[in-house]
Amino acid sequence: GKELLNVNQLQTHFFTENGAIPSVNGVSFQVNKGELVAIVGESGSGKSVTSLSIMGLVEEPGKIVGGEIMFEDKDLAKYTNKQMRKIRGNDIAMIFQEPLTSLNPVFTIGNQLREAILQHQNVDKATAKKMSIDMLTQVGIPRADKVYSSFPHSLSGGMRQRVMIAMALSCNPKLLIADEPTTALDVTIQAQILELMKDLVKKMDTAIILITHDLGVVAELVDRVIVMYAGQVVEQSDVFSLFKDPKHPYTKGLLDSTPKIQDLNEELISIKGTVPTPANMPDGCKFHPRCPHAMDHCISNEPKLDTLENGREVRCWLYDEEVMADEQSKNGNE
Ligand code: SF4
Ligand code: MG
Repeated sequence: GKELLNVNQLQTHFFTENGAIPSVNGVSFQVNKGELVAIVGESGSGKSVTSLSIMGLVEEPGKIVGGEIMFEDKDLAKYTNKQMRKIRGNDIAMIFQEPLTSLNPVFTIGNQLREAILQHQNVDKATAKKMSIDMLTQVGIPRADKVYSSFPHSLSGGMRQRVMIAMALSCNPKLLIADEPTTALDVTIQAQILELMKDLVKKMDTAIILITHDLGVVAELVDRVIVMYAGQVVEQSDVFSLFKDPKHPYTKGLLDSTPKIQDLNEELISIKGTVPTPANMPDGCKFHPRCPHAMDHCISNEPKLDTLENGREVRCWLYDEEVMADEQSKNGNE
């Protein structure tokens, strides 16, 4: 596929009384046209700040301090707020976890959807209304003409998220960023919404970045997975290889703590410890305090993101032949 987005060494810091906190610390990844990519990590991994950076929505005291966000041939990292507003309305759309906060409670669904269409497409009011009802039908809302005249609070959470998807897609975006779009919904509705997003995006050739803490939701949905930890990418892989043969110990931990349908009754293994806070970021590999495979070398040396076979990437010393040979000879001499 053709490259749509190329994030290169992105750095987003938050400037506090205690100094600069690097929430996003040198993140690089690409998204192709029409591709579905997930960014996965626990809360505090920097995945949301990465997506906010792409959308130009990082708020004070946060600031992009380094790197590039190449969207087609434009570097969004250098865009002004005004320029970004234009990009957000047209080329990049987003949906968040709680649609109630994004929908205006005093206007009907139809009013808001119609206005969004009028803003982005050159059509008259009557056509915009027809298109709105059409969109609502397309996102699987029954009796769309009735919902068109309803207010947001009268809809269920799942229906509201469908409305948000219709709104997001009304500007025909090239990229849709969805930050935990189904986390507030129950499991059945979650699956339906994700399936809907996948269908619509295929039809419209929109690329999606799905931000989630839950590897379980990405398996059936995305083409590629980017795993983030402590503000960095620690693994990047096509979804099939990642589930079959996860490379990074953190990814393995995430997979072990993801319930599989067939063994919902088994106890989940969760990764011990918590994401380090920027104030006490460990030296060396940032995952070493939690890593079951940590070696002496990991404590003071930070691994780089390395490319493995099939374009997979991993940030871990276990895949460095020299380091492993050293470790083995050390252990042999003990
Ligand atoms: Fe674990 Fe070392 Fe790999 Fe870090 S570099 S994930 S501590 S084995
Ligand atoms: Mg978040």
